[in-house]
Amino acid sequence: IVHWNSPRFHSYLPAGNCFPAICADMLSGVFCNIGFSWSACPASTDLEMVMLDWLGKMLQLPQDFLFSSNGTGGGVIQSSASESTLMALLSAREKTISCIQTMKKDWSRGMITDKLVYYASTEAHCSVEKAGLLSGLTCRLLPTDAAFSLQGDILQAAIDEDRTLGFIPFFVVGTLGTTNSCAFDNVDKLGEVCKKENLWFHIDAAYAGAAFICPEFRYLLNGVEYADSFLLCPAKWLLTNHDCCAMWIKDRENALKPFSITPAYLKEDVEEQTLNYRNWGITFGRKFRSLKMWFVFRMFGVRGLQTYIRKHVSLAHEFENLVKNDHRFEVLLPVVLGVVCFRLKGSEAQNEEMLSVINKRGKITLKSSRIRSRDLYVIRFVVCGKDTESEDILFSWREICLAANKILNSKNE
Ligand code: PLP
Repeated sequence: IVHWNSPRFHSYLPAGNCFPAICADMLSGVFCNIGFSWSACPASTDLEMVMLDWLGKMLQLPQDFLFSSNGTGGGVIQSSASESTLMALLSAREKTISCIQTMKKDWSRGMITDKLVYYASTEAHCSVEKAGLLSGLTCRLLPTDAAFSLQGDILQAAIDEDRTLGFIPFFVVGTLGTTNSCAFDNVDKLGEVCKKENLWFHIDAAYAGAAFICPEFRYLLNGVEYADSFLLCPAKWLLTNHDCCAMWIKDRENALKPFSITPAYLKEDVEEQTLNYRNWGITFGRKFRSLKMWFVFRMFGVRGLQTYIRKHVSLAHEFENLVKNDHRFEVLLPVVLGVVCFRLKGSEAQNEEMLSVINKRGKITLKSSRIRSRDLYVIRFVVCGKDTESEDILFSWREICLAANKILNSKNE
């Protein structure tokens, strides 16, 4: 088994878990309530609504994303960020098709679908492209600036160009905390463009979103008021073990109507007035996942969760400083949260070799990636383990130096 929660595991992203979340997951298995509709497990639906509002309030999401505003918005727990993005894309497609068909009565679904195009940056997670593969819709990846961030003027230029060519832009994904380098798209400016052009704006903050519960990182979420949908995964960086992705939709009534089916075997008087989460996603059966969010929130409290996030960020800065103080290495991007993107100042082959030495020694694990917009090989160092301490960071750095010495010495020989 790969020990994702080892303090010396620095690959991918955190897969946070903790004792209360594991207990809740076990209880969910014990209760065996499959919450496809409210009456199939009222507690599951009700608790999910409350938990999504609690988390929304922790993040200071705009009121119109919350059930408690008594508006059209609300949240759901999906199995993954990929599923959430796919659902947002499909909702946006349905909204656009019905809007166009009111104006162009003779246009078929097929004719419109062929013209639809949506956008994300080259640094967006591959689940954004995959949503296009699954739905048969065209995705256009746009270049980022020097900080690997997608800017509004680039989006605007792509929209103008595509409209001239007869395409119909309809959906944009902004990423807060890209997987490669934890870069942040300019969601404020992207949101302005989406509003002006009447496009669905979806924000993917799968990893970084957890940090926005800390007031000092909340500024990174500015612009969320333009979003039609927003996601973050408590299963990544909020100690709520996989699977758990929180997604909010501003206009749930209209967004979900195209996917709402009530067959005869599910008809119950009480359901007419309640919320049925089966209409919010792909699956019919759903686990009682709100239980683990509840256990985690009650056990740690907001302050406990903030402390956990802050600790990871501070450890990432410790690592960043170690790298910066060694002239043989470079850090690619200022560190904002728990991901440090760095490399040996040298060839790609040398970096690859160093990584291979590190991973073969088996004391720590690290992965590489490629910044697509600059075709640049990087090594990602992520603070993952719940119990990672400064001494683990130092240990990992020594492992990296050992491998670097080996590679550089062999070059000089
Ligand atoms: N979006 C971002 C920014 C991610 O970092 C990831 C995974 O690392 C995903 C989406 C996909 O997450 P999931 O496995 O929950 O689909």
